[in-house]
Amino acid sequence: MIHCLLYTEGRILLVSKTQAIDILKGGGNVAIPTETVYGLAGRYDSLKAVENIFRIKQRPSFDPLICHISNLEQIDLLTKNFDPTSQRLAKEFWPGPLTIVLPKSKNVDSLITAGLDTVAIRMPKHRLCQEIIEEVASPLCAPSANYFGKTSPSSMQHVETEFGGKLAVVDGGDCEIGIESTIVEVIDGQVFIHRSGMISKADMENLGFEVLDRKSKSAQGPGSMQDHYMPKVPFYLIKENKKQYLENKERLKEWKLEDDPYLAARNLYKNLRHQAETTSGFYTYISDEDGHWEAIWDRLKKASYRKDLF
Ligand code: AMP
Ligand code: MG
Repeated sequence: MIHCLLYTEGRILLVSKTQAIDILKGGGNVAIPTETVYGLAGRYDSLKAVENIFRIKQRPSFDPLICHISNLEQIDLLTKNFDPTSQRLAKEFWPGPLTIVLPKSKNVDSLITAGLDTVAIRMPKHRLCQEIIEEVASPLCAPSANYFGKTSPSSMQHVETEFGGKLAVVDGGDCEIGIESTIVEVIDGQVFIHRSGMISKADMENLGFEVLDRKSKSAQGPGSMQDHYMPKVPFYLIKENKKQYLENKERLKEWKLEDDPYLAARNLYKNLRHQAETTSGFYTYISDEDGHWEAIWDRLKKASYRKDLF
């Protein structure tokens, strides 16, 4: 049901697409579905909406936001230099889970870019999300709808658990991709990966792009924290936390990831939440760190990084 306003037990604040559009047009904030994760949206040209994204998420101002667009004309609002390689990336992968970093135009407030002179842009594939952006007729900033550093939401229920009753949310079903977008930046015709995602290095190379690994030094992006997505109980990623795992083995439950990386990504945050709620500690193995597993490895590594629990 997405066509009426619903309060259930005073917690869920579900709004329809039309209501979400009205709230966003007026400079308010709504959680919206995308194919990657649910985003805490606000229009890019409303300073109030952008400030509130940082406030609601308790996100530090040094972590820049991604601007989401529904058509290529909106890109001209955000950048004056859409270079040919970036255009080709957009042609191949948009709409979809690829974010492209470009020089920012003067329309883009430095609060959005954390003071950088570049802006991150994505055209999501989720139909409802596209319709909302199109009708608001403004790019929307929309970082994941969770408190900073915590597990991202891949369903409306996850947003509700995080912000229950305090943030309006549009129900667009479970997210198809399930983890955040791949972030790239083109420098001198080469593609640098700032953050891995389900569009892999090989996916781009297979289409003729020259891609530099995110492990390369120059590709360190802002806001790429070591710790992120953290569950409330100890979580060990075997290989990374071998010593701690061996010491705590008896009281830990095993979490088996799906064999298929797309399925593992789609269910990743749901399962991570489930493990945190039903165990007092858990661990998983990941045998392959390459290809489409790289993004999953990256998220799990950050989720298992608990300085305070070790
Ligand atoms: P998310 O929180 O998933 O919406 O993604 C936001 C992330 O995008 C930030 O934490 C940065 O890592 C990255 N990002 C945003 N803007 C830029 C930029 N101008 N240059 C490089 N990375 C960026
Ligand atoms: Mg996030």
